[in-house]
Amino acid sequence: MNKGVLVVTGGSRGIGAATARLAAAQGYAVVVNYAANADAAQVVCADIHAAGGVGAAVRGDVSNEADIDLIFAAADRLGPLAGLVNNAGAIDVAARVDGMDLARISRIFAVNTLGTILCSGRAVRRMSTRHGGKGGAIVNITSAAAKLGAPATYVDYAAAKGAVDSFTVGLALEVAGEGIRVNGVRPGIIDTEFHASGGDPDRAARLASSLPMPRVGTAEEVARAVMWLMSEEASYTTGSVIDVTGGRGIRP
Ligand code: NDP
Repeated sequence: MNKGVLVVTGGSRGIGAATARLAAAQGYAVVVNYAANADAAQVVCADIHAAGGVGAAVRGDVSNEADIDLIFAAADRLGPLAGLVNNAGAIDVAARVDGMDLARISRIFAVNTLGTILCSGRAVRRMSTRHGGKGGAIVNITSAAAKLGAPATYVDYAAAKGAVDSFTVGLALEVAGEGIRVNGVRPGIIDTEFHASGGDPDRAARLASSLPMPRVGTAEEVARAVMWLMSEEASYTTGSVIDVTGGRGIRP
């Protein structure tokens, strides 16, 4: 059941880790990329190996082109690339726009948006039939914030994810004739460490009861949507961004 190599950026924790584990169980050799947390990436790979799968932890900042090349060089060592999940994401503490400076906004766009575009370029180079590849699929993790705007907290992050929504459609059209499908998943409030990294560890629990489905989502629930889009089950789906939000933001 060798499905080829899947690169999961930000695969060491949260949604990326759940996606890496599920992908390995489905027969992908998984590059588990991380930025700083080597121990967490090693735990994910140990779980994958214990289940009989193939996983390699690879450090690399998706906002750094030299690092991106190292991530894809590691993928090449495992075999032909079959897919990419652009999952790595970053947020900053809640602020209004008049409290945001260039350094903050640049970092948010560099990780969430530029990293997604740069990694996709490397993947297309390898998977496109135009370049002799066998095709493949790309799934971008965006956010419900792309539609809701995240006013008075994270408008920069929401704009960066909105750009990823737009990129998903554009790239899907660009490579549709080259054997590559490009889709996205918009998570809502998911129970991961992401909220703590945004300076608000209680955010998920606090918002849970006000959600249309009155609970937070799990990383595994997002991973299942990601891997459906990656799979042959979704063979005629491209340019779609699926909400996995328990109903949050479906009628903005
Ligand atoms: P976590 O904070 O749990 O995990 C973030 C992951 O991204 C980690 O593996 C981290 O690596 C990695 N990462 C961070 N910055 C970089 C970078 N510059 N280069 C490479 N990897 C990086 O986040 P989630 O799992 O919650 O989020 C995953 C995605 O889902 C993100 O794109 C996020 O924007 C999106 N999302 C999450 C929501 C939520 O409620 N949780 C809601 C909507 C969208 P390391 O372990 O080394 O730090």
